[in-house]
Amino acid sequence: MRYSARCSACGNEFSINDDHAYLRRDDGTLVSLEEHGQGQADALKEAGFTWKRAYDEARVVRGRCYLCKQCGGVHEERDYEGPLGCLAGSLIFLALLPFQCGLWAYLGYLQKMRTWHVAAACCGTALLMAACSFMLRWGETRRYRRNLRGLPPPGDQNCCEARALEDLIPLTHATEGPAFPCRTCGARAVTVSKAQS
Ligand SMILES: [Zn+2]
Ligand SMILES: [Zn+2]
Repeated sequence: MRYSARCSACGNEFSINDDHAYLRRDDGTLVSLEEHGQGQADALKEAGFTWKRAYDEARVVRGRCYLCKQCGGVHEERDYEGPLGCLAGSLIFLALLPFQCGLWAYLGYLQKMRTWHVAAACCGTALLMAACSFMLRWGETRRYRRNLRGLPPPGDQNCCEARALEDLIPLTHATEGPAFPCRTCGARAVTVSKAQS
């Protein structure tokens, strides 16, 4: 999501993304996957990686941006991102169906309209699918977790020395929030809005 910040005192304007993706190089430096206006997948391909390989090797770093109430700068918190595990995710999603059937059958059993067998069978299926999806997820993230071990944290990008946790406002909340100090003129007159795209 893109946000734009504007100072009502001096008219200075800038735009911020609340979320950034980076590729970690072998030497630990981070390359933005959004520069040059190309898509993340293309940037990744150009660097010689697929999403799967980048995730497995713990190379994908996600940055989330905050605005600082003290200095008006952007603080970015960075962390490694693990594989999403789409197979596991879709299985747990599919498990919702037998789970709902099970609940429905259980209600019928409580009202003495049905025997307990249907409820037990449905809930059993749902549990089995959930267990499978957890194992799948564990398998899908194993290489990622092994590669993550021993890696130093990617390091946040700090806006100023004074910043404290309560001074950092997530961009999604900054739109409702107080005015931030302007880095150009110093007036506390910067407001944030969602950028029209
Ligand atoms: Zn200003
Ligand atoms: Zn700051």
